[in-house]
Amino acid sequence: MRRPAIMVDIETLDTSVTAAIVSIAAIVFDVHGQSTREDLLKDHFYTNISIVSNQKFGRTMSADTIEWWFKQSQEAQRALYSDPILPFNTALIKYRQWLEAQTADRIYACDPDFDCNILAHGLESIKDRDPFQYHGRRSVRTTIEFAYPDEPMPNVEMGTAHNALDDVVKQALQMQHCWNKIHG
Ligand SMILES: [Mg+2]
Repeated sequence: MRRPAIMVDIETLDTSVTAAIVSIAAIVFDVHGQSTREDLLKDHFYTNISIVSNQKFGRTMSADTIEWWFKQSQEAQRALYSDPILPFNTALIKYRQWLEAQTADRIYACDPDFDCNILAHGLESIKDRDPFQYHGRRSVRTTIEFAYPDEPMPNVEMGTAHNALDDVVKQALQMQHCWNKIHG
């Protein structure tokens, strides 16, 4: 890989930094590459997290976000209840260990201010640490805007929207597409 990076996505029950995290998905991808879904899933991290355990760790839930979830597809809702479902602290530690096993020095998220900040807060709250500092973070949304300033990006159809694992694959494919469009 020329420029390995992480793509991360979380599903939550709130939009504040203290949000309950119900899913974490992460993959490694080459920003310069042209991958398939299968390539991207070779070495991935995915877990759901118990809502009860989130509550025990003081994570917050908002009525707005829960109402938003009611309006999402049944596939997306059901995915939150499929195995593995880990306690909050175990999930966060496993995620941090998976990150540290990678060689990537950058982490992409749709909105790093959301996903990365909530994960960093979660790790801090269990006295663990986020291996990525602010300067390693990259925004999917900003990259798309640079590649497509005046028109919507062509659709990358990929699995179930708001399933964290499908979302990371889709977003990695989008970043490769944007890189290719900008640099040819
Ligand atoms: Mg998502």
